[in-house]
This record gives sequence, C-alpha cells and structure tokens, in this order.
Amino acid sequence: MDIRKLAVVGAGQMGAGIAQVAAQAGLEVVLIDQDGALVEKGLAGIRAQLDRAVTKGKLTAELAAATIARIKGGRSTDDAAGAQIAVEAVTENEAVKRKVFEGLARAMGTEAILASNTSSIPITRLAASVPAPERVIGMHFMNPVPVMQLVEIIRAIQTSDATYAATDALAKKLGKTTVLSKDMPGFIVNRILIPMINEACFALQEGLGSAADIDTAMKLGTNQPMGPLTLADFIGLDTCLSIAEVLHKGLGEDKYRPAPILRQHVEAGWLGKKSKRGFFAY
Ligand code: NAD
Repeated sequence: MDIRKLAVVGAGQMGAGIAQVAAQAGLEVVLIDQDGALVEKGLAGIRAQLDRAVTKGKLTAELAAATIARIKGGRSTDDAAGAQIAVEAVTENEAVKRKVFEGLARAMGTEAILASNTSSIPITRLAASVPAPERVIGMHFMNPVPVMQLVEIIRAIQTSDATYAATDALAKKLGKTTVLSKDMPGFIVNRILIPMINEACFALQEGLGSAADIDTAMKLGTNQPMGPLTLADFIGLDTCLSIAEVLHKGLGEDKYRPAPILRQHVEAGWLGKKSKRGFFAY
C-alpha cells in the first residue's frame, strides 16, 4: 500500500508530534482537531520545533519550510478524505474515539487504515465500531514523538496481515523502531512500566525510602535515565492511575491494584509536572 497522505485527529501533544514526524518523512499531512485554536497551537509548536532545529544547524531553513508546508489544518474528520491512513490521538475516552473512528470511516472509505494511538483502550473494541474492522490497528507512539524511537504496533483480533504490514512499514518510514504487541491491557511498555511505577509508589507510602532516594536508587542502581517517581510526574499521575486501573480491571489480579498514595495525589490535583506538583515540585 502506497501511503502518501496521513490524517492525524487530535492536535494535542501526541497528535502534533505525529504530524511533525510524518511531514518530516515527506508525507502530506492533515492535522485535525475539533478546536480550531488547538490546530493553530499545534502548528505553531511544530514550527517552533523546526526553527530550533534550524538554529542548531540540524536542519536547513529550506527543509523546515518544505516540512511545514506539507501540513494542513482541519476541523472535522471529513477533512481526512483522500488520506490512506488516519491516526487518532484524541482524548483517552472510548466513546470519543469510537465517534472519531465512525467519522473517519465515513470520510475515508473501507480501503483506508484507521490507527489508534490509545495507551489503554482495547483496539479490538474500537475495530468493532467501523465497517472494515480488518483495517483497524494500534499505533502507539511514545512521548515526545519526535524524540522517542519506539512505536508499539497492536493487532486487534480483526486486523488483517496487509494492514499490519502497511502500518509497520509506515512507522519505519517515520524513522521508528517497531515492536508487535497483542491487544492486551497496557500492551508491552505500560504492562511493565506502570507496575514498576506503582511499586515505587507503594515503597514511598511504606516509608521504604524518601522520594528522592527511591529515584536515585533506581536511576543509579538500574541505569535508568530518570527514577520512577520523576517519570510518573512527567507522564502525569492521572494518566498513570488510569492505566493502573485498566491493568487491574483487565487482568483481574490484585498485584495490579493502584497504590493509595497515587490515587490521593490525583485527588489532590497534584498531577505531576503539568500541575507543577506531583511527587516532586516543579
Ligand atoms: P491531549 O489532551 O494533549 O490532546 C487531545 C486532543 O484531542 C485535544 O487537542 C482535543 O481538543 C482533541 N479532541 C478531543 N476530542 C476530539 C474530537 N472528537 N475530534 C477531534 N479532536 C478531538 O492528549 P495527548 O496527551 O496528546 O493524548 C492523546 C492520545 O494519545 C490519548 O489516547 C493518549 O492515551 C495517547 N498517548 C498519550 C501519551 C502521553 O504521554 N501523553 C503517550 C502515548 C499515547
């Protein structure tokens, strides 16, 4: 399948990043959000990133201009017409994502691939909401998209071999390394990462060590770029909690129960870096 044009729905931090890497790889891109101001904000953010790369000498001004010229803004899933693939990166809410997929399926027809960047919603259930479920797949980018090397590809039980092959090839064209995951709660990365973060929360709650010592121990003792509590603050404690709940509910085992201290921080509005306070202050 020759993918020349890609639609991204959701111009938040993930959607803008996906639009940027696709345009840098030479694809035509339409970046769609229901909120026009967010489309403009997303485009301005991409422009600023490319300008920084030009200033640092990593990109020529001509290439930056050509990249930004390949991205158009859109306000509705109708604007995805003519693209061979859409990647939805809207709010992590199943009803919202189903509605977006229904709109994309109407606009793009049954030949186009519909990919979801969801962190936790079963791709199999999203696939069931459109007329061509064999064309639906998970394409889970990491944050920040232009920097992070990995894309997890998730096959729903309905996903065809052709859809998988085309999506995997596209991710590689975007310069990413792919791994294939079954459609199970958390996929590969969050299945392993979130229990580690949750265990660090239990350790903090039990007074095993201070937040700083838990992070230093894991950073220097296991050679990770940042400790688990700092990483949780960067991801957002609300996001960590919601993924922990998906693992707990979906896998049905007590070992995945979210740490009370994590829930308490979220209830207090201490969501991490984005709210200036989480396990640490920012
Ligand atoms: P975000 O809140 O920054 O952006 C979501 C965007 O979707 C907003 O701009 C919102 O206006 C838009 N939107 C909501 N409903 C819409 C609709 N019906 N039509 C069009 N646009 C709509 O969120 P984000 O952090 O970019 O996350 C987006 C998706 O990516 C989620 O599924 C999330 O789980 C997943 N994800 C996030 C991360 C992360 O670290 N933030 C990492 C991997 C995957």
